[in-house]
Amino acid sequence: MARRRRISPEIQRLVRQRANHLCEYCHTSERWQYVPFTIDHIVPLSKGGSDEPDNLALACFHCNRRKADKLTALDPDSGEEVPLFNPRRDVWSEHFIWSSDGLFIIGLTATGRATVEALELNRERVINIRAADRMVGRHPPPGDPVQKAKGGEREQGCGGDEERRGKGDSDTSFPDYHRGAAPRGVSNGGEG
Ligand SMILES: [Zn+2]
Repeated sequence: MARRRRISPEIQRLVRQRANHLCEYCHTSERWQYVPFTIDHIVPLSKGGSDEPDNLALACFHCNRRKADKLTALDPDSGEEVPLFNPRRDVWSEHFIWSSDGLFIIGLTATGRATVEALELNRERVINIRAADRMVGRHPPPGDPVQKAKGGEREQGCGGDEERRGKGDSDTSFPDYHRGAAPRGVSNGGEG
């Protein structure tokens, strides 16, 4: 893996706050994780992407690793190669919706479906986190669309603790995963 340039603490803070401390792909909250999330280059540096904020997204370790330098992926429905979800260009709720039980991200568009597959947004480990977080009322994230149990209409996420800013702001450059045990949702390898 190529070495990453360090992104300034100010820009990292901006990226975290802009993302409301959610991984901008799988919408897992960084607030409850032991290890900070990573700063993803949406267009990778190797493909000419910049360190500017409009090319950066907050991403959990797994999503960042799965995305790697991809910009496109196959839509499992059509088999066509389509752009991956781009958190700066696209709106999450236009491409994804939570299943009624809050455990699964469902792609609403070709880009949504392709991103669910390519980034494994419904990997087993994150489903376990969602189930546990839902039980304590902090999942799905506030404002996220959720399928109704009957039919396909939308309702809103459960709401929750919005005002815990500041706690998760111990910015680190990518990747800095050597502080301790793996947090929930981050494997030290082997999970794929
Ligand atoms: Zn993620």
